Amino acid sequence: MDTMVKDKAITKELDVENIRNEFPILSVTVHGKPLVYFDNAASSQKPLFVIKAISTYYETVNSNVHRGVHHLSSLATDQFETARKTIATHLNANPDEIIYTRGTTEAINLVAFSYGEVFIKEGDEIIISQMEHHSNIVPWQMLCQRKKAVLKYIPITDSGELKMDEYKKLLSAKTKLVAVTHVSNSLGTINPVEEIIALAHAKNVPVLLDGAQAVPHIKVDVKKLDVDFYCFSGHKVYGPTGIGILFGKTKWLKEMVPYQGGGEMIKEVKLEASTYQEPPLRFEAGTPNIEGSIVLATAIDYMNNLGIDAIAKHEHKLLDYATEKLRAIEGLKIVGQAKYKAPVVAFNIEGLHPYDIGVILDQLGIAVRTGHHCTQPIMDLYCIPGTVRTSFSFYNTIAEIDTLVEGVKKAIKMLKK
Ligand code: PMP
Repeated sequence: MDTMVKDKAITKELDVENIRNEFPILSVTVHGKPLVYFDNAASSQKPLFVIKAISTYYETVNSNVHRGVHHLSSLATDQFETARKTIATHLNANPDEIIYTRGTTEAINLVAFSYGEVFIKEGDEIIISQMEHHSNIVPWQMLCQRKKAVLKYIPITDSGELKMDEYKKLLSAKTKLVAVTHVSNSLGTINPVEEIIALAHAKNVPVLLDGAQAVPHIKVDVKKLDVDFYCFSGHKVYGPTGIGILFGKTKWLKEMVPYQGGGEMIKEVKLEASTYQEPPLRFEAGTPNIEGSIVLATAIDYMNNLGIDAIAKHEHKLLDYATEKLRAIEGLKIVGQAKYKAPVVAFNIEGLHPYDIGVILDQLGIAVRTGHHCTQPIMDLYCIPGTVRTSFSFYNTIAEIDTLVEGVKKAIKMLKK
């Protein structure tokens, strides 16, 4: 396993104890035990900096955007558009390439519809992989059904890596889009996205990356990647739920049809027909999640203040430690052993159901996720009902992993009695 930190020696260390004090929820007790929150891949906890920004918005700014001439409306519009710039800067994109969505799922559905309507026809092929989240499978299945196109899957190895030779074979003159995850939510695998993009672009095929599990852990530069579409969710990067981002290159967005019709996205509405705004507003019908958009930028500022490299350094220390300690437990098998991993350790214990382990861990105050993690094809491929998934954040500690390891041993003892 390798870390993505370029220079471990010079990257600063996080002051985790002080950081934890900024997250009120980390001090709650669950079933009388201190909470150990290891379900960060599902949703992250929020610092006071973010929580307070939500109430500040409602206390001092709240109004609709792009509409009013009055003071509050222009203040809200200003903050909404400034947030778009902050998010654009974070991804190294232009603000008009940043579309506010409800989350990663809506961002992918938007591309599947709006790109699909224009660029996909009968017999065309779309390539995704076997390790995709359902949000990056179902929209493409729906599009392929609608257009009579064909969905192809890059297979994965036993350790949870993409079979790149098979990917090369799948790419053809029929391929019209490649859509893969940057980081797998259930295996932790960090995919070789630069190579995936270069191979697709060599055949003039655009690439969408599902960055839901990458943006919380990795510095993403869409220009350097030269990726065509990139999406992520606010709630996984210490921001609110119900807000997410779709980055799209202008050359595609300009050609794409609207995803939804309504207010905000129009230029002119006549009874006969309507004309539409330029991107990004063309894809933002209706009153948006104003508070969510503004506070997502606040959350990104928070992460940048800590430093993405410092975050990655700490999280990889947790990943390496948890991998070593869990692996040493008899009968425990880690699912997802790629060379490059984000801080996710999923596992199974011989003879036990993941759900039962999850329930016992919960009784001990330890929050993990059990089940298929919205990646049923992976579970089918490995012939397992699901896994116990632990996923770490910069506010987690080595001591918490020790608690987890003790908890897993206790669960085994109880269940194997
Ligand atoms: N893709 C991946 C890799 C994910 O982990 C998730 C969330 N678990 C999603 C997509 C969907 O994100 P959301 O529910 O925030 O739209």
